[in-house]
Amino acid sequence: MPTKAVIISIGDEILYGQTLDTNAHWISGELNKAGIQVEKRYTIGDRREEILSTLKEAEERAKIILITGGLGPTSDDLTKPCLLEYFDTYLVRNESVLNHIIELFTTRGREVTEVNKAQADIPANGKAVPNILGTAPGVWIEENGKVFVSMPGVPYEMQQMMTDTVIPQLREKYVKGELLHRMIRTIGIPESALANMIREWETNLPKAIKLAYLPTKGSVKLRLTAKREDEDHFQTQKLIQEEINKVLPTIEKYVYGFDDEEIEEAIGRMLLESKMSLSTAESCTGGYLSHKITSVPGSSQWYEGGFIPYSNKFKNEQLRVPLEMLEEHGAVSKPVVLVLAENVRKAFNTSIGVSISGIAGPTGGTEEKPVGTVWIGYSDQRKTVAKKFLFTKDRLINIHYTAMAALDMIRINLTKD
Ligand code: AMP
Ligand code: MG
Repeated sequence: MPTKAVIISIGDEILYGQTLDTNAHWISGELNKAGIQVEKRYTIGDRREEILSTLKEAEERAKIILITGGLGPTSDDLTKPCLLEYFDTYLVRNESVLNHIIELFTTRGREVTEVNKAQADIPANGKAVPNILGTAPGVWIEENGKVFVSMPGVPYEMQQMMTDTVIPQLREKYVKGELLHRMIRTIGIPESALANMIREWETNLPKAIKLAYLPTKGSVKLRLTAKREDEDHFQTQKLIQEEINKVLPTIEKYVYGFDDEEIEEAIGRMLLESKMSLSTAESCTGGYLSHKITSVPGSSQWYEGGFIPYSNKFKNEQLRVPLEMLEEHGAVSKPVVLVLAENVRKAFNTSIGVSISGIAGPTGGTEEKPVGTVWIGYSDQRKTVAKKFLFTKDRLINIHYTAMAALDMIRINLTKD
């Protein structure tokens, strides 16, 4: 049985809906990778009674209690006083933390106040967890066979502390065999169809390997997990790789990459390998596809640029879609995306041009073209083709699905060559 943990997110701003609790999400993922099971997450405000009662409940549920937030120097941050009260202890100034705070302020040319210095005060029953990016150290307290770790709410400070100190120490204390994950990333096939396709392989997986389907918007990831013991690390890796090799021929058509590679990164890799370039003309996605593409480091090597031909006027004047065609077929139509794809490719002089025109919603749908109808065009030197999709009623989801589908269309055409 994996060791259990609970996460407590403290901060009024989370309850007000002003801050999204990304800390709990991130910590859950990291603990899972580390082989620690998150049993429950609490989100509470900066209130003494709430903090104390949640600490009590958390302690009854799990061995590991991870707390973020409420560690600032201001009076609204109550986590530290609550820890003192909960463990009936007092503060001791930690010299090495104090030196770190003084150094941080001096290099930033700021004066160190008493309030700042007080951040070096640590509960007497705990140890400081270094915070190299900020002033508030974390606190690691072990009591009654439980570990409590209190960390600042600032996400990047918390993440650095978790990665450098907390996870390695928890692992050493609680996790014998580390979990080894590999991910097969697929696109263009629903989870259920994928499951059907690989049922036989799944049934015959070795006991040591666990399979999980992780569907996200527009793509499904297959995660293979095995527990590794230090001495047979390579053996475990090999075992997983063998299973990946077995299943690949069945699903190859839908696989765009492995592990952390996103579809836009995979497209970039494929374009670079074949020395090809890309341009885009996006109507209903308004640049979202271009944003995904340009989020990939080094995309300037294969992405030339794009148009956002949102209005018919722009489609006509800048990308030379005939007005009669727009009138006869409407902007969301096959002939229009064919012209857009070809003309954007020519305008940028790229190997590939991709075009998008759709009804993102929630209004603007008709019986013939309901909300969620999207046409995507693809053009290269040899051919210009288009495909129709019908997504959902939700505007933002449609925008996301459309960009994913466009990337998949590029991928399919690149693998065909
Ligand atoms: P604190 O440690 O409570 O002073 O939090 C500092 C800042 O970190 C807050 O103002 C929030 O912007 C951010 N923050 C706090 N808790 C969380 C959380 N659970 N997830 C994401 N950001 C958070
Ligand atoms: Mg706070």
